[in-house]
Amino acid sequence: MKWRNYEVAVRRSSRRKTMHIVVERDGTLAVQVPSDMPESRVEEILESRAYDVFIMLEKWRESHKEQVHRQFRDGQSFLYLGRSYQLKFIQDQSEPVKLRSGNILLRKDDSDPRAALIGFYKRMAKVRIGKRVRELLPGFPVPKKVAVRDMSTRWGSCTPGGVITYNWRCVLVPPRVMDYLIVHELAHLEHHRHSRAFWDKIASVLPGFESSVEWLRINGVRTEM
Ligand SMILES: [Zn+2]
Repeated sequence: MKWRNYEVAVRRSSRRKTMHIVVERDGTLAVQVPSDMPESRVEEILESRAYDVFIMLEKWRESHKEQVHRQFRDGQSFLYLGRSYQLKFIQDQSEPVKLRSGNILLRKDDSDPRAALIGFYKRMAKVRIGKRVRELLPGFPVPKKVAVRDMSTRWGSCTPGGVITYNWRCVLVPPRVMDYLIVHELAHLEHHRHSRAFWDKIASVLPGFESSVEWLRINGVRTEM
């Protein structure tokens, strides 16, 4: 449901007697409520506790503020598909970068770990974005070309000629947010401007996409490196 500008996930449980408000790991709001509580009542409670909710959100933001220029040392966290992984330097491995149980493994003697990690992200972005573009494409005009490359300030672009480019950083955000970024550019194949029809088209493919826009607003800074 929507409350003020927030998308709130409503989880119902017959075992709950009262409403419980939580800020999820990704910074979104959720409420756990008794199964028969109407949304109007949920809204009423949220409204009466609005101040507490804003404090909760603010605390979450504070604790997730990370330095933009990250150091490549053990324990530093990096995003991949919206999840946090900690860097771990190991003696040697068959590939420059590996993911294993919450860690991004890098070679200890790698002279440029940053380049190694970005290389990994770019490879994964090509595979994952390519796959999702093919899956989400039905219903959109066929793009002339789809490329993945480095874009410092944008998530993607679409030229009037139908050439779409995605930032490899799309692979850092949660899959549902990556879907939104992909569909955003696909929708530009039909609608060049951010018109009502443009947003309606996105909503028809990805209902509730607004929470992805909100995720990017809050977490965008975490995708810098
Ligand atoms: Zn756009």
